[in-house]
Amino acid sequence: MPDDLLERLQRFTSEAFPTQRSLFRHLVDDGQHPLALFIGCSDSRIVPYLLTGAGPGELFLVRNVGAFVPPYDQSHGFHGTAAAIEFAVLNLAVQRIVVCGHTHCGAIRALYGEVPAAAQNLARWLDLGREAALPVAEPGPEVLRRTEQRAIVLQLERLMDYPMVRERVEAGQLTLHGWHYVIEEGEVHVFDVRKGFVPASQADNAGTGPYRPVAYAEDINGLDASGVPASG
Ligand SMILES: [Zn+2]
Repeated sequence: MPDDLLERLQRFTSEAFPTQRSLFRHLVDDGQHPLALFIGCSDSRIVPYLLTGAGPGELFLVRNVGAFVPPYDQSHGFHGTAAAIEFAVLNLAVQRIVVCGHTHCGAIRALYGEVPAAAQNLARWLDLGREAALPVAEPGPEVLRRTEQRAIVLQLERLMDYPMVRERVEAGQLTLHGWHYVIEEGEVHVFDVRKGFVPASQADNAGTGPYRPVAYAEDINGLDASGVPASG
């Protein structure tokens, strides 16, 4: 079997790196100052640099199955995502946190099915999305899409339980962004506390909140007053 990966590594050093040598030199000398923490699903079809046009040094990335945010308050376990959130906010002082889910998400699909018995870590991890699942046995495409969006809002709310996040959001130093990437349309739908998920092409901004529990004047896209879309 040809070692494609080795060839790619060699090509990076010989072809890609030379074109950005000075940028990397700067990022080494000056350190990294990313503006955003990007919490994305591990799905291979999400390419954060393509979506945002970001280059080296611009995104602090953490990815996991489902783009889930573990609870801040935990007395057990190791959570790389929780550590990344704390580091990005306290050490790097990011100004934005993006939670990016997507269509056809295997993690969201798995909320409605069984996971292999040996996948005990996965089964436990999926608990972080269960609240987003709707009470149906056989979810169709529309239910899955709504569940994906509900899960994103759920993670934004959990982010607000991190004291360092809440403080900065309330001080206006940090904004939270919920993104639902519609792979087949090549467009991110951004969460707006007033409008629900809006295609980026029609949005006024890259998404807002929820920064604090929001009282909705009307039911929009099935969202209830807590900011989490209503069940059923
Ligand atoms: Zn996914």
